[in-house]
Amino acid sequence: MSQTRTRLVMGNWKMHGSLVDNAALLGSLVSGAARAGDTQLAVCAPFPYLAQARQVLAATPISWGAQDVSVHDRGAYTGEVSAAMLADFGCTWVLCGHSERRALHGESSALVAAKAATALASGLAPVVCVGETLSDRDAGDAECVIGDQLEPVLALGADTLSRLVIAYEPVWAIGTGRTATPDQAQAIHAFIRAALVRHGAGQTRILYGGSVKAANASALFSQPDIDGALVGGASLVADEFLNIAAAVAQ
Ligand code: PEP
Repeated sequence: MSQTRTRLVMGNWKMHGSLVDNAALLGSLVSGAARAGDTQLAVCAPFPYLAQARQVLAATPISWGAQDVSVHDRGAYTGEVSAAMLADFGCTWVLCGHSERRALHGESSALVAAKAATALASGLAPVVCVGETLSDRDAGDAECVIGDQLEPVLALGADTLSRLVIAYEPVWAIGTGRTATPDQAQAIHAFIRAALVRHGAGQTRILYGGSVKAANASALFSQPDIDGALVGGASLVADEFLNIAAAVAQ
């Protein structure tokens, strides 16, 4: 892994948590944050808990963010949350185009890129998620699908690309317990890296996500183009999440 790209381990809590559970989880993360060494730690909480994340994490090295953002700045968009609102709650990060948003809410790659641009305009750092389904992979189409997902993001240009993060999350590995092998993950990360280099943004960080656990983290993160992890289920267990960060930090 290049020393010039700071490693990042980010939790995606999805639609989990409660005030009581989060207090315990966040408290344990704060107590154990030193185990991450120089690796950045972050959590993406559900919207209602961003205030709680800010309250607990404000004076700590752990940053926080949201799991989605509206493409609109303001107005009659019932149920939507704007990037400026997320910035108001001290968010550093926002996930854009998680596969569950793409699959369950019909988000197109053009919309995902527009959300990323909107987030950046409010000073947030988007984490743009891409990844193929199992049928895409089995058909030999993984790179083609990921290339299509990336295209409108790459079109945002080098300056924008240098301020965001890409997360490669094979859909078949999310929440399934089935992880891409280090070689499979590295091959796609190298493909994404090459696209970023062609667009003048070779130092943009690329996270891997999909059933990451402490047990598989070291092997994944020894790959040269894997700059950290986006962690779902394992991010809800403080010790497991910190063990992943410790493995990345080695
Ligand atoms: C995710 O939802 O971003 C994710 C990677 O989930 P999991 O770690 O549970 O596979």
